[in-house]
Amino acid sequence: MTRFMVPGISLESSRKAALLSETRTGVYAAAGIHPNELCPDSHSPDITLDLPEILLHPRVIAVGETGLDFYRDRVPEKLQIEVFKEHISLAEAFGLTLIVHSRGAEGEVLDVLGDDVTVPVIMHCYTGEDDTARKAADRGYYIGFTGALTFRKNDRLRDLAASLPADRILIETDAPYMSPEPVRGRRNEPSNVRYIADIVSEVWRRDPEETAVTLMRNSLRAMQLGPDRRTDLVYLLYGNIYMNITGRCSNRCRFCIKDRTDGIGGYYLAHHCEPLEERLDSVIGALTPDMGKELVFCGYGEPTMRPELLKRLAGSASERGFSVRLNTNGTCLSRLSPGETFELLEPFDTVSISLNASGREEYRSICRPVDENAWDRLIEFIELARMAASVRLTAVRYPGVDMESVKELAESLNLPLKVRG
Ligand code: SF4
Repeated sequence: MTRFMVPGISLESSRKAALLSETRTGVYAAAGIHPNELCPDSHSPDITLDLPEILLHPRVIAVGETGLDFYRDRVPEKLQIEVFKEHISLAEAFGLTLIVHSRGAEGEVLDVLGDDVTVPVIMHCYTGEDDTARKAADRGYYIGFTGALTFRKNDRLRDLAASLPADRILIETDAPYMSPEPVRGRRNEPSNVRYIADIVSEVWRRDPEETAVTLMRNSLRAMQLGPDRRTDLVYLLYGNIYMNITGRCSNRCRFCIKDRTDGIGGYYLAHHCEPLEERLDSVIGALTPDMGKELVFCGYGEPTMRPELLKRLAGSASERGFSVRLNTNGTCLSRLSPGETFELLEPFDTVSISLNASGREEYRSICRPVDENAWDRLIEFIELARMAASVRLTAVRYPGVDMESVKELAESLNLPLKVRG
């Protein structure tokens, strides 16, 4: 086994799951509030307001457990549904997989989810009706089977597993509960998942190895860890919140991190396609200023490549009380007029500009801009930016960069310079 998913069932256990995920490679966490953990007297849907801080953890890759449990009849259905809806909104905002508990409420769960959830949904530990499972699979949800699939009298569940599309099936332990045969009655643990895989292999009438490969592929897809991996659009580093709004850039710097790795700090930041505006709107709406010192607009690319979006997001963040910073290569005057650029900068408290060279030729050689006059635009941008916000410069140590001259230039501009690398 190479990867584990540890879901939370309350705020406290979700925080613990996030901490546990830091202890070794391959451990991931989910954060959520299980319907049975809700306290009817003291909880309201506001309880989910504390979840985004946990969801920002790089190894928290799913929202859950969440869902509905009408079997126990302890927490009012209305409260459960409202809290479940908040979880769905958070999963969609952060682009995270949703792990859904449903007991005595499978149909209601599908009603609340609706037809157009934009993230993978896992019907966790499924033991409900066949028709509901088929409807869920038709919608593209994953059906998770636990030790219940191995229980001797559970032919009905095995028939269901045999009849569902193979690419919708997941196996899980739900440890420490639901121990499968032949260890039923003992404390369950992740390694017991092999007994469930054996039963899937039997009902599929497939070779165990082929079954294992299919189930692993399904899990990676469900958790968005496969080839089309989910991009983290928001991440927490150095006490700041970073918004990763684009993968495009106007330069091709020789030292660019994008050429060496897909992310930093445990976050996956490479883009398969440009992030949707609605997703960025939702995720920023779930954040609050107390979660970080600054809200930094960056990208795994150059944020000013999306100027209208950048202006709108930064403007609304500023209105909501965030201290807002722009990290830029400073070449947007190659594409925007000075007036448009000044307007773009208005919401920002701070602008951090990558200088990275001491002159035109050095810049061309190291940063390889699309616009051959980019260096001149960069110097003009610095002058414009300092009229709008507090400006600082950065430079990366790299062979061919005359760092002493870069420092002299920063000094002559009377601006602080941070040298990196
Ligand atoms: S400006 Fe930044 S994102 Fe663009 S190529 Fe250079 S280092 Fe990479």
